[in-house]
Amino acid sequence: ASSWAGVPAGPPDPILGVTEAYKRSTHPKKMNVGVGAYRDDNGKPYILPSVKQAEESLAGKFDKEYLPISGLSEFTSLAAKLAYGADSPLVKEGKIAITQSISGTGALRIGGAFFQRHYPGVKAIYLPTPTWGNHIPIFKDSGLEVRRYRYFTPGEAVGLDWAGVVEDLKNAEEGAIVLLHACAHNPTGIDPTPEQWKQLSEVIKSKKLFPFFDMAYQGFASGDTTKDAFAPRYFIEQGHQIALCQSFAKNMGLYGERVGAFSLTASSAEEKARIESQIKILVRPMYSNPPVHGARIAAAILGDPKLNAQWEGEVKGMADRIIEMRNVLYDKLTHELKTPGDWSHIKSQIGIFTGLKPEQTKALAEKAHIYMTADGRISMAGLNSHNIGYFAECVDKAVR
Ligand code: PMP
Repeated sequence: ASSWAGVPAGPPDPILGVTEAYKRSTHPKKMNVGVGAYRDDNGKPYILPSVKQAEESLAGKFDKEYLPISGLSEFTSLAAKLAYGADSPLVKEGKIAITQSISGTGALRIGGAFFQRHYPGVKAIYLPTPTWGNHIPIFKDSGLEVRRYRYFTPGEAVGLDWAGVVEDLKNAEEGAIVLLHACAHNPTGIDPTPEQWKQLSEVIKSKKLFPFFDMAYQGFASGDTTKDAFAPRYFIEQGHQIALCQSFAKNMGLYGERVGAFSLTASSAEEKARIESQIKILVRPMYSNPPVHGARIAAAILGDPKLNAQWEGEVKGMADRIIEMRNVLYDKLTHELKTPGDWSHIKSQIGIFTGLKPEQTKALAEKAHIYMTADGRISMAGLNSHNIGYFAECVDKAVR
Protein backbone atom coordinates (compact mmCIF):
# COMPACT_ATOMS: atom_id res chain seq x y z
CA ALA A 1 0.00 0.00 0.00
CA SER A 2 1.11 3.55 -0.58
CA SER A 3 2.60 5.38 2.35
CA TRP A 4 0.15 8.17 1.58
CA ALA A 5 -3.06 6.12 1.50
CA GLY A 6 -4.15 7.83 4.69
CA VAL A 7 -3.53 11.40 3.53
CA PRO A 8 -6.91 13.13 3.44
CA ALA A 9 -7.80 15.52 0.61
CA GLY A 10 -7.49 19.12 1.78
CA PRO A 11 -9.99 21.84 0.95
CA PRO A 12 -9.16 24.07 -2.04
CA ASP A 13 -7.59 27.44 -1.27
CA PRO A 14 -10.51 29.78 -0.67
CA ILE A 15 -9.03 32.61 -2.73
CA LEU A 16 -7.20 30.83 -5.53
CA GLY A 17 -10.19 28.45 -5.95
CA VAL A 18 -12.27 31.39 -7.17
CA THR A 19 -10.07 31.81 -10.23
CA GLU A 20 -10.49 28.12 -11.04
CA ALA A 21 -14.28 28.49 -10.97
CA TYR A 22 -14.06 31.61 -13.12
CA LYS A 23 -11.92 29.84 -15.72
CA ARG A 24 -14.43 26.98 -15.95
CA SER A 25 -17.33 29.33 -16.69
CA THR A 26 -18.18 29.87 -20.36
CA HIS A 27 -20.58 32.79 -19.80
CA PRO A 28 -19.67 35.75 -22.07
CA LYS A 29 -20.07 38.33 -19.33
CA LYS A 30 -18.28 36.38 -16.58
CA MET A 31 -16.24 38.48 -14.16
CA ASN A 32 -13.48 37.62 -11.70
CA VAL A 33 -13.49 39.91 -8.70
CA GLY A 34 -11.84 37.33 -6.45
CA VAL A 35 -8.10 37.60 -6.59
CA GLY A 36 -6.63 40.86 -5.37
CA ALA A 37 -4.40 41.58 -8.33
CA TYR A 38 -4.59 44.85 -10.23
CA ARG A 39 -6.13 44.87 -13.70
CA ASP A 40 -6.12 47.70 -16.25
CA ASP A 41 -9.27 49.18 -17.76
CA ASN A 42 -9.41 46.33 -20.25
CA GLY A 43 -9.33 43.76 -17.45
CA LYS A 44 -5.78 42.74 -18.35
CA PRO A 45 -2.74 42.29 -16.09
CA TYR A 46 -0.69 45.49 -16.02
CA ILE A 47 3.08 45.66 -16.34
CA LEU A 48 4.17 49.07 -15.05
CA PRO A 49 6.11 51.06 -17.67
CA SER A 50 8.75 51.79 -14.99
CA VAL A 51 9.16 48.03 -14.49
CA LYS A 52 9.53 47.50 -18.25
CA GLN A 53 12.17 50.22 -18.40
CA ALA A 54 14.05 48.82 -15.44
CA GLU A 55 14.00 45.36 -17.00
CA GLU A 56 15.32 46.72 -20.29
CA SER A 57 18.13 48.53 -18.50
CA LEU A 58 19.08 45.28 -16.72
CA ALA A 59 18.93 42.99 -19.75
CA GLY A 60 22.12 41.13 -20.44
CA LYS A 61 24.05 42.87 -17.66
CA PHE A 62 23.94 40.23 -14.95
CA ASP A 63 24.80 36.61 -14.39
CA LYS A 64 22.52 34.25 -12.51
CA GLU A 65 24.67 33.69 -9.45
CA TYR A 66 23.16 33.29 -5.97
CA LEU A 67 22.31 36.30 -3.87
CA PRO A 68 23.54 36.41 -0.26
CA ILE A 69 21.18 34.87 2.34
CA SER A 70 19.70 38.31 3.15
CA GLY A 71 19.24 39.17 -0.51
CA LEU A 72 20.36 42.09 -2.64
CA SER A 73 21.72 44.75 -0.28
CA GLU A 74 21.02 47.62 -2.73
CA PHE A 75 17.41 46.49 -2.73
CA THR A 76 17.01 46.08 1.03
CA SER A 77 18.52 49.47 1.86
CA LEU A 78 16.24 51.16 -0.69
CA ALA A 79 13.22 49.21 0.60
CA ALA A 80 13.99 50.40 4.14
CA LYS A 81 14.15 54.01 2.94
CA LEU A 82 10.83 53.64 1.15
CA ALA A 83 9.12 52.26 4.23
CA TYR A 84 10.76 54.21 7.05
CA GLY A 85 11.51 57.41 5.10
CA ALA A 86 14.88 58.50 3.72
CA ASP A 87 15.18 60.95 6.64
CA SER A 88 14.41 58.38 9.31
CA PRO A 89 17.00 58.50 12.12
CA LEU A 90 16.86 54.67 12.24
CA VAL A 91 17.88 54.51 8.58
CA LYS A 92 20.67 57.06 9.06
CA GLU A 93 22.02 55.39 12.19
CA GLY A 94 21.96 51.89 10.71
CA LYS A 95 19.43 50.53 13.20
CA ILE A 96 17.15 48.63 10.83
CA ALA A 97 17.76 44.91 10.58
CA ILE A 98 16.39 43.89 7.19
CA THR A 99 16.32 40.91 4.89
CA GLN A 100 14.92 40.41 1.42
CA SER A 101 11.98 38.01 1.52
CA ILE A 102 9.83 35.94 -0.80
CA SER A 103 7.33 38.78 -1.15
CA GLY A 104 5.02 39.76 1.70
CA THR A 105 4.10 36.19 2.58
CA GLY A 106 7.74 35.25 3.02
CA ALA A 107 8.32 38.35 5.14
CA LEU A 108 5.49 37.36 7.45
CA ARG A 109 6.83 33.81 7.66
CA ILE A 110 10.39 34.92 8.52
CA GLY A 111 8.92 37.33 11.08
CA GLY A 112 6.85 34.55 12.62
CA ALA A 113 9.91 32.32 12.86
CA PHE A 114 12.05 35.08 14.37
CA PHE A 115 9.48 35.88 17.06
CA GLN A 116 8.99 32.19 17.78
CA ARG A 117 12.70 31.77 18.39
CA HIS A 118 13.82 35.09 19.91
CA TYR A 119 10.90 37.13 21.23
CA PRO A 120 11.25 37.36 25.02
CA GLY A 121 7.56 38.23 25.61
CA VAL A 122 4.41 36.15 25.17
CA LYS A 123 4.67 34.08 21.98
CA ALA A 124 1.11 34.76 20.91
CA ILE A 125 0.01 37.07 18.12
CA TYR A 126 -3.32 38.90 18.04
CA LEU A 127 -4.79 39.12 14.53
CA PRO A 128 -7.75 41.32 13.58
CA THR A 129 -11.09 39.64 12.79
CA PRO A 130 -11.41 39.51 9.88
CA THR A 131 -7.94 39.46 8.38
CA TRP A 132 -6.21 38.21 5.23
CA GLY A 133 -6.92 34.46 5.43
CA ASN A 134 -3.30 33.42 5.06
CA HIS A 135 -2.21 35.26 8.23
CA ILE A 136 -3.66 32.51 10.40
CA PRO A 137 -1.75 29.50 8.99
CA ILE A 138 1.41 31.60 8.48
CA PHE A 139 1.68 32.39 12.17
CA LYS A 140 0.46 28.96 13.31
CA ASP A 141 3.02 27.24 11.11
CA SER A 142 5.65 29.59 12.55
CA GLY A 143 4.89 28.17 15.99
CA LEU A 144 3.14 31.21 17.44
CA GLU A 145 -0.19 30.99 19.19
CA VAL A 146 -2.86 32.82 17.18
CA ARG A 147 -5.38 34.94 19.07
CA ARG A 148 -7.85 37.48 17.70
CA TYR A 149 -9.13 41.01 18.28
CA ARG A 150 -12.35 42.48 16.92
CA TYR A 151 -11.93 44.78 13.93
CA PHE A 152 -15.10 44.76 11.90
CA THR A 153 -18.49 43.43 12.89
CA PRO A 154 -20.77 42.70 9.95
CA GLY A 155 -24.08 44.44 10.38
CA GLU A 156 -25.90 47.45 9.09
CA ALA A 157 -23.13 50.02 9.50
CA VAL A 158 -19.98 49.37 7.51
CA GLY A 159 -17.12 50.67 9.61
CA LEU A 160 -14.37 49.88 12.02
CA ASP A 161 -15.53 48.32 15.31
CA TRP A 162 -13.42 50.84 17.16
CA ALA A 163 -14.81 50.09 20.62
CA GLY A 164 -14.14 46.39 19.96
CA VAL A 165 -10.56 47.02 18.85
CA VAL A 166 -9.75 49.06 21.94
CA GLU A 167 -11.51 46.75 24.37
CA ASP A 168 -9.89 43.60 22.97
CA LEU A 169 -6.39 45.10 22.95
CA LYS A 170 -6.87 46.42 26.48
CA ASN A 171 -7.81 42.90 27.50
CA ALA A 172 -4.94 41.31 25.56
CA GLU A 173 -2.23 39.49 27.48
CA GLU A 174 0.55 41.89 28.40
CA GLY A 175 3.70 41.44 26.34
CA ALA A 176 2.08 39.59 23.41
CA ILE A 177 2.37 40.55 19.71
CA VAL A 178 -0.29 42.42 17.72
CA LEU A 179 -0.60 42.34 13.95
CA LEU A 180 -1.60 45.63 12.30
CA HIS A 181 -2.38 46.16 8.61
CA ALA A 182 -0.34 49.29 7.88
CA CYS A 183 -2.84 50.51 5.26
CA ALA A 184 -5.68 49.23 3.09
CA HIS A 185 -6.87 46.57 5.53
CA ASN A 186 -7.57 43.31 3.72
CA PRO A 187 -10.43 42.31 3.35
CA THR A 188 -12.46 45.19 4.81
CA GLY A 189 -10.86 48.24 3.14
CA ILE A 190 -11.32 50.09 6.43
CA ASP A 191 -8.33 51.69 8.17
CA PRO A 192 -8.06 53.49 11.49
CA THR A 193 -7.97 57.30 11.16
CA PRO A 194 -4.73 59.10 12.16
CA GLU A 195 -6.43 59.98 15.47
CA GLN A 196 -7.30 56.30 16.04
CA TRP A 197 -3.72 55.26 15.23
CA LYS A 198 -2.59 57.63 17.98
CA GLN A 199 -4.92 55.99 20.46
CA LEU A 200 -3.86 52.55 19.27
CA SER A 201 -0.24 53.46 19.90
CA GLU A 202 -1.15 54.40 23.49
CA VAL A 203 -3.10 51.20 24.16
CA ILE A 204 -0.36 49.04 22.63
CA LYS A 205 2.27 50.83 24.70
CA SER A 206 0.32 50.52 27.93
CA LYS A 207 -0.08 46.77 27.41
CA LYS A 208 3.54 46.32 26.28
CA LEU A 209 2.28 44.67 23.08
CA PHE A 210 4.75 44.37 20.19
CA PRO A 211 3.41 46.06 17.01
CA PHE A 212 3.96 43.84 13.96
CA PHE A 213 3.03 45.69 10.76
CA ASP A 214 2.01 44.05 7.52
CA MET A 215 2.41 46.64 4.75
CA ALA A 216 1.37 44.91 1.54
CA TYR A 217 -0.07 47.98 -0.19
CA GLN A 218 2.26 50.96 0.32
CA GLY A 219 1.22 53.60 -2.24
CA PHE A 220 -1.59 51.45 -3.55
CA ALA A 221 -4.08 52.64 -0.93
CA SER A 222 -4.02 56.42 -1.28
CA GLY A 223 -1.74 56.78 -4.30
CA ASP A 224 1.00 58.25 -2.07
CA THR A 225 3.74 56.02 -0.61
CA THR A 226 4.49 58.50 2.21
CA LYS A 227 0.88 58.87 3.27
CA ASP A 228 0.41 55.09 3.30
CA ALA A 229 3.44 54.66 5.58
CA PHE A 230 1.98 56.94 8.24
CA ALA A 231 1.18 54.25 10.83
CA PRO A 232 4.55 52.45 11.15
CA ARG A 233 6.43 55.77 11.02
CA TYR A 234 4.18 57.25 13.69
CA PHE A 235 4.68 54.24 15.97
CA ILE A 236 8.44 54.63 15.65
CA GLU A 237 8.18 58.33 16.52
CA GLN A 238 6.29 57.30 19.62
CA GLY A 239 9.17 55.11 20.71
CA HIS A 240 7.85 51.68 19.71
CA GLN A 241 10.11 49.00 18.35
CA ILE A 242 8.32 47.52 15.35
CA ALA A 243 8.42 44.59 12.95
CA LEU A 244 7.55 45.37 9.32
CA CYS A 245 6.66 43.21 6.33
CA GLN A 246 6.84 44.79 2.88
CA SER A 247 5.55 43.47 -0.42
CA PHE A 248 6.23 44.83 -3.90
CA ALA A 249 3.58 42.59 -5.45
CA LYS A 250 0.88 45.26 -5.67
CA ASN A 251 2.68 48.59 -5.78
CA MET A 252 5.14 47.47 -8.49
CA GLY A 253 2.93 44.77 -9.99
CA LEU A 254 5.73 42.26 -9.31
CA TYR A 255 3.36 39.53 -8.03
CA GLY A 256 5.11 36.49 -9.46
CA GLU A 257 8.62 37.87 -8.99
CA ARG A 258 8.18 37.54 -5.20
CA VAL A 259 9.87 40.72 -4.00
CA GLY A 260 9.55 41.75 -0.37
CA ALA A 261 11.40 42.54 2.82
CA PHE A 262 11.19 41.83 6.54
CA SER A 263 12.67 44.28 9.01
CA LEU A 264 13.01 44.91 12.73
CA THR A 265 14.05 48.16 14.37
CA ALA A 266 17.02 47.83 16.71
CA SER A 267 18.30 49.98 19.57
CA SER A 268 21.84 50.16 18.16
CA ALA A 269 23.84 49.28 15.07
CA GLU A 270 25.49 46.50 17.04
CA GLU A 271 22.11 45.01 17.99
CA LYS A 272 21.01 45.30 14.34
CA ALA A 273 24.00 43.18 13.31
CA ARG A 274 23.15 40.51 15.92
CA ILE A 275 19.52 40.39 14.72
CA GLU A 276 20.60 40.06 11.10
CA SER A 277 22.95 37.21 11.96
CA GLN A 278 20.01 35.33 13.50
CA ILE A 279 17.71 36.07 10.56
CA LYS A 280 20.32 34.45 8.31
CA ILE A 281 20.36 31.39 10.53
CA LEU A 282 16.58 31.12 10.06
CA VAL A 283 16.58 31.73 6.31
CA ARG A 284 19.46 29.43 5.32
CA PRO A 285 17.65 26.14 6.08
CA MET A 286 14.29 27.47 4.81
CA TYR A 287 15.25 28.49 1.26
CA SER A 288 18.94 29.42 1.37
CA ASN A 289 18.62 32.74 -0.47
CA PRO A 290 15.91 34.71 -2.28
CA PRO A 291 15.24 35.11 -6.03
CA VAL A 292 17.30 37.78 -7.74
CA HIS A 293 15.44 39.13 -10.75
CA GLY A 294 12.60 41.04 -9.10
CA ALA A 295 14.89 42.54 -6.46
CA ARG A 296 17.08 43.96 -9.22
CA ILE A 297 14.03 45.51 -10.89
CA ALA A 298 12.82 47.09 -7.63
CA ALA A 299 16.33 48.37 -6.83
CA ALA A 300 16.70 49.84 -10.32
CA ILE A 301 13.43 51.75 -9.85
CA LEU A 302 13.93 52.88 -6.26
CA GLY A 303 17.57 53.79 -6.83
CA ASP A 304 17.08 56.04 -9.85
CA PRO A 305 15.42 59.39 -8.98
CA LYS A 306 13.82 59.76 -12.41
CA LEU A 307 12.51 56.23 -12.64
CA ASN A 308 11.39 56.40 -9.03
CA ALA A 309 9.34 59.53 -9.72
CA GLN A 310 7.80 57.84 -12.74
CA TRP A 311 6.94 54.80 -10.62
CA GLU A 312 5.30 56.96 -7.94
CA GLY A 313 3.11 58.39 -10.70
CA GLU A 314 2.19 54.92 -11.92
CA VAL A 315 1.26 53.77 -8.42
CA LYS A 316 -0.96 56.81 -8.14
CA GLY A 317 -2.50 55.94 -11.51
CA MET A 318 -3.46 52.48 -10.25
CA ALA A 319 -4.86 53.84 -6.99
CA ASP A 320 -6.79 56.54 -8.85
CA ARG A 321 -8.37 54.07 -11.28
CA ILE A 322 -9.68 52.08 -8.33
CA ILE A 323 -10.95 55.19 -6.55
CA GLU A 324 -12.71 56.16 -9.80
CA MET A 325 -14.37 52.71 -9.98
CA ARG A 326 -15.56 53.21 -6.39
CA ASN A 327 -17.15 56.54 -7.31
CA VAL A 328 -18.78 55.18 -10.45
CA LEU A 329 -20.16 52.10 -8.68
CA TYR A 330 -21.52 54.24 -5.87
CA ASP A 331 -23.23 56.61 -8.32
CA LYS A 332 -24.73 53.80 -10.38
CA LEU A 333 -26.20 52.04 -7.35
CA THR A 334 -27.32 55.11 -5.45
CA HIS A 335 -28.45 57.51 -8.17
CA GLU A 336 -28.96 55.61 -11.41
CA LEU A 337 -30.46 52.31 -10.26
CA LYS A 338 -31.72 53.54 -6.88
CA THR A 339 -30.65 50.24 -5.35
CA PRO A 340 -32.01 49.86 -1.81
CA GLY A 341 -29.42 50.30 0.96
CA ASP A 342 -26.62 52.64 1.95
CA TRP A 343 -23.63 52.26 -0.40
CA SER A 344 -21.46 55.05 0.99
CA HIS A 345 -18.90 52.51 2.26
CA ILE A 346 -17.94 51.76 -1.34
CA LYS A 347 -16.56 55.28 -1.54
CA SER A 348 -15.10 55.53 1.96
CA GLN A 349 -13.17 52.24 1.87
CA ILE A 350 -9.47 52.19 1.04
CA GLY A 351 -7.57 49.91 -1.28
CA ILE A 352 -8.81 47.30 -3.65
CA PHE A 353 -11.49 45.53 -1.64
CA THR A 354 -15.10 46.13 -0.79
CA GLY A 355 -17.70 43.85 0.70
CA LEU A 356 -21.22 42.61 0.14
CA LYS A 357 -23.32 40.34 2.31
CA PRO A 358 -22.71 36.58 1.84
CA GLU A 359 -26.23 35.90 0.50
CA GLN A 360 -25.79 38.68 -2.07
CA THR A 361 -22.47 37.32 -3.25
CA LYS A 362 -23.96 33.85 -3.60
CA ALA A 363 -26.62 35.23 -5.94
CA LEU A 364 -23.96 37.07 -7.93
CA ALA A 365 -21.90 33.94 -8.42
CA GLU A 366 -24.80 31.63 -9.24
CA LYS A 367 -26.97 33.88 -11.42
CA ALA A 368 -24.62 36.50 -12.82
CA HIS A 369 -21.34 34.57 -13.28
CA ILE A 370 -19.49 36.99 -11.04
CA TYR A 371 -16.84 35.18 -9.05
CA MET A 372 -15.50 36.30 -5.67
CA THR A 373 -14.46 34.87 -2.31
CA ALA A 374 -17.20 33.45 -0.10
CA ASP A 375 -16.81 36.20 2.51
CA GLY A 376 -18.18 38.69 -0.03
CA ARG A 377 -14.89 40.42 -0.62
CA ILE A 378 -14.87 42.14 -4.01
CA SER A 379 -11.66 43.18 -5.68
CA MET A 380 -12.40 46.58 -7.16
CA ALA A 381 -9.47 46.02 -9.50
CA GLY A 382 -11.66 43.54 -11.42
CA LEU A 383 -14.04 46.38 -12.36
CA ASN A 384 -13.47 48.59 -15.40
CA SER A 385 -15.38 50.98 -17.63
CA HIS A 386 -16.57 48.05 -19.79
CA ASN A 387 -18.02 45.80 -17.11
CA ILE A 388 -19.05 48.12 -14.28
CA GLY A 389 -22.52 48.71 -15.74
CA TYR A 390 -23.24 44.98 -15.84
CA PHE A 391 -21.78 44.58 -12.36
CA ALA A 392 -23.96 47.35 -10.88
CA GLU A 393 -27.09 45.90 -12.50
CA CYS A 394 -26.32 42.45 -11.11
CA VAL A 395 -25.73 43.81 -7.63
CA ASP A 396 -29.00 45.73 -7.93
CA LYS A 397 -30.86 42.55 -8.84
CA ALA A 398 -29.15 40.52 -6.12
CA VAL A 399 -30.16 43.03 -3.45
CA ARG A 400 -33.81 43.51 -4.42
N1 PMP B 1 -0.50 40.70 3.46
C1 PMP B 1 -1.68 41.08 2.99
C2 PMP B 1 -2.61 41.82 3.89
C3 PMP B 1 -2.04 40.79 1.68
O1 PMP B 1 -3.23 41.18 1.23
C4 PMP B 1 -1.14 40.09 0.87
C5 PMP B 1 -1.48 39.76 -0.56
N2 PMP B 1 -2.75 39.34 -0.82
C6 PMP B 1 0.11 39.72 1.41
C7 PMP B 1 0.39 40.05 2.71
C8 PMP B 1 1.19 38.98 0.70
O2 PMP B 1 1.22 38.93 -0.62
P1 PMP B 1 2.54 38.55 -1.41
O3 PMP B 1 3.14 37.36 -0.73
O4 PMP B 1 2.06 38.27 -2.77
O5 PMP B 1 3.42 39.74 -1.32
